[in-house]
Amino acid sequence: LQLLCHSLRNEFLCVGIMHRKFGYILFLIATCFVSYGQCKFDMPVSSARIANYTMDVTLDHVKHIAKTKARLQWINPSPDTISKIRMYMYLNAFKNEKSAWISGTGGNVFGQDLASKPKEEWGYVNIDKIVQGQSDITKSLKYIQPHIDNKNDQSVIEMTLANPVMPEDTLYLDYDFTAKLPKTIARSGHGLNDFHLWVHWYPKIGVYEQFRDGDWKWNCREFIQRTEFYGEFGVYDMTFHVSDHLTLGSSGCKIDRVDHEDDTYTVQYVAKDVIDFAWTVSPEFEIVEQYWKDVYIKLLLPVDHKGMKKRYMAAVTNALEYFEKHVAKYPYPSITIVDPPFHSLRNGFMEYPTLITVGGFTEMPNWFHGSESLLIHEFSHQYFMGILASNEKEEAWLDEGFVTYYEDRIMEAYYGAHTSQIDVLGFHYGNSALSRNEYVGMRNIRGGPINQPSWQINGDYKGLVYAKTATMLKTLERYIGIDRMDDLMQTYYEEKKFTHPRAEDFLGIVESKLSSWYDRETTTMYMQFLDRCLNQTGTFDYAVNEVNANSFVVSQLGDYDMPVDIQVVFKDNSEEMIQWSGQGKNIAFKPLSDKEIVSVYIDPEQKLIIDSNCNNNSFTRQPNKSALFKYAGKLIHWTQQIFQTTSFLL
Ligand SMILES: [Zn+2]
Repeated sequence: LQLLCHSLRNEFLCVGIMHRKFGYILFLIATCFVSYGQCKFDMPVSSARIANYTMDVTLDHVKHIAKTKARLQWINPSPDTISKIRMYMYLNAFKNEKSAWISGTGGNVFGQDLASKPKEEWGYVNIDKIVQGQSDITKSLKYIQPHIDNKNDQSVIEMTLANPVMPEDTLYLDYDFTAKLPKTIARSGHGLNDFHLWVHWYPKIGVYEQFRDGDWKWNCREFIQRTEFYGEFGVYDMTFHVSDHLTLGSSGCKIDRVDHEDDTYTVQYVAKDVIDFAWTVSPEFEIVEQYWKDVYIKLLLPVDHKGMKKRYMAAVTNALEYFEKHVAKYPYPSITIVDPPFHSLRNGFMEYPTLITVGGFTEMPNWFHGSESLLIHEFSHQYFMGILASNEKEEAWLDEGFVTYYEDRIMEAYYGAHTSQIDVLGFHYGNSALSRNEYVGMRNIRGGPINQPSWQINGDYKGLVYAKTATMLKTLERYIGIDRMDDLMQTYYEEKKFTHPRAEDFLGIVESKLSSWYDRETTTMYMQFLDRCLNQTGTFDYAVNEVNANSFVVSQLGDYDMPVDIQVVFKDNSEEMIQWSGQGKNIAFKPLSDKEIVSVYIDPEQKLIIDSNCNNNSFTRQPNKSALFKYAGKLIHWTQQIFQTTSFLL
């Protein structure tokens, strides 16, 4: 009980220790019975809490404007004296068609032609006044474009401080800002019937960090398509004033609510150890609440989506349970799931700390688990993006690729290894197969390495960053076994949680774990496998060339090799397993048995699931392919096409 209480509210631990006996008993009682607003426990201090915000937000839902008084408390984490501060102003991506975000789309987003968008439908964020102590520094504000050649972009702002911040010193900035939501273009925006989703909506400080070259600098990139997140951990103490016909949901936990006589209410939310804060209002939400263990789950569901209630709740509790079992316990006290009304579907399918958005219809058929898969994908971002807060812009695979890998694992654990996406009339489609097919089905499978900044990736971004990474991790899992994969990921999580891990952090942990289990040669082989997948563009492809009565010939047709098993099946149904290094072309094998060979299967357990063509992995001397097999193959092909053409960037 004591341990439990400690883990729940360790901020009070010092009180307990100081007062010993008497105080300690009081502490235990307080700890176990005091809840944290609507949540059952408070966050223990888990991050460095570099950037902490207090905001008082008044929403004008008619004009779609939030006027906010904000205070930022920021700790200089560096040995530098800092005189200039950079902030993200991401809502300005939707200010006009000249922003880097919009101009990068060619003027068409989700089928909307933006050239004809009326002026009043665009949005913006503006810092009206900013002071440091007694000094007004508003006049020093300047939009900058540190990385892109577009002088019209206003997604990053810089200011000069009146008093520089010394190393490890604390900066306080008080500022008033106005944010206007656009009519939704993508994610951030308002829709019909007073629906508002406030994401990327406030001036948010960038990350001041030590770069690979050893220098400390601002990492505060402009907002471009595909990638959003790189933020500093901190505490958000938020107070909202809104009309009482609106239901509000947000990151964090509700602490207090006061209703007023003028048909408005004031509500306070607090989110701790998060890198961002999102909120939403709508008169159409029904609130569905549930606890999983001590985690408070809030589902905001449009009334006409009621049919999905049980399925969403089952999916999120499955994800919570799976992560606790295989990676680490979910550390936050709450998770909010927003299912936008159908008219605002473009606001869906995204992740924010302790708040995710999904998307769907009144009721999806029971045999199609796309809604669950989406929800589990977005939830998995709480771990990759939220807690292991890598730079999504520079190394998106550490975020989206790991998320897709866990999405596939969780879906297959709860909805069937081969039925997790689709299970109807004998037609099955599993998540791992979908990820693999997205990778091998890319228009150009050698389009580029995974491990490169998002702005350099051309072509099929999702196939590369999401699907190829997930398929690479699945291949590693099948080679080393799921227990070792879990051990590896648990170590990565424990060592890097609430920090900004980079590729070398992950790969360093992988190498150290592998070398504790295997000899140097095997460790090198697995590290080389990861390096080839991440930093090179070649493929793995094995094929059976020919099968004779007592021998067979195989080839490695791709660029790289991994050792594989070859299963030989004889006429009397007996089998022999042969190990092959995977190297060479036209390699002839003769089984030990001199029985007549019927079939040969390379990698029968599909460990090397990243093999770009599995159809040539087996060969049977007595072909039994019926027309049904042919049509099943076609059905898979078309299903894959549908997934690819309808898939959003999640
Ligand atoms: Zn995602």
